[in-house]
Amino acid sequence: MTELKNKVAIITGGGGGIGSAVAQTLAANGMKIALLGGNNLEKLSATADAVRKYSDCLVIPGDLTDMEFLSGAVSQAAEYFGKIDTLINNAGVAQNTPFEAVSVAEFDRIMAINTKVPYFLTQFTLPFLRKSDAAAVINIASVVAHAGYPQQSVYTASKHALLGMTKSIANELHKENIRVHAISPGGVYTDMVKISRPDLSPDGMIMPEDIAEIVLFFLARRTNAVIDEICVHRLGKEPFQI
Ligand code: NAD
Repeated sequence: MTELKNKVAIITGGGGGIGSAVAQTLAANGMKIALLGGNNLEKLSATADAVRKYSDCLVIPGDLTDMEFLSGAVSQAAEYFGKIDTLINNAGVAQNTPFEAVSVAEFDRIMAINTKVPYFLTQFTLPFLRKSDAAAVINIASVVAHAGYPQQSVYTASKHALLGMTKSIANELHKENIRVHAISPGGVYTDMVKISRPDLSPDGMIMPEDIAEIVLFFLARRTNAVIDEICVHRLGKEPFQI
């Protein structure tokens, strides 16, 4: 097992279902947490309070798609903790719009948060990751990085792009001992799935804590057996369909 105590993780979307579960699980295993971005201060504070039961937590609210905020927030986290070992690119926005009804503004918004933000956040964090002895980036993609669901054309494009950049950046950085992984879940029981898949019943859905355990697995089992991506489907979905 890799020692996680006092390692520092930046997590985006920490006010949301998966981000909150990931933050709490990593903190329970000794990691210090920076929650980057988000404007729902109530939800961010709830996650921060839960994290602080175990570990130190820095909250930097704001709009991640503002590139000046994004690079400033990375510097702030690095200054506060003295280092950054892990980046969890988790923040995202969903969609439930027919292709013909997608506006330019909606396209730009989804691509910005789901694709541009993880790309540049990884770039801004890289100088600090280079100094870590166990650097890792974990991108929360989706089953739609592999498939194309109706009413989700931009979301699907954004997650294909996220998985594509994960592959390319992983190949650029692995010789520097920086690991770049993707997790591609199906329906997870959070606020997002209620928007994107209102037809799904909560029964049989993946829980945010399940995804948090997979993030922990990537970080804690840093062995010679490197896993690039983990795909996870909900119980009700046919096996091997993504
Ligand atoms: P969620 O809606 O609960 O959380 C999303 C988070 O992203 C929120 O905290 C929100 O504040 C944050 N966010 C969105 N836009 C932002 C912006 N411009 N600036 C700052 N923060 C912003 O949803 P979730 O299910 O926890 O989603 C987390 C990740 O998991 C997303 O990338 C999503 O695409 C992915 N995912 C979710 C599911 C699912 O079924 N829920 C399935 C596969 C992948």
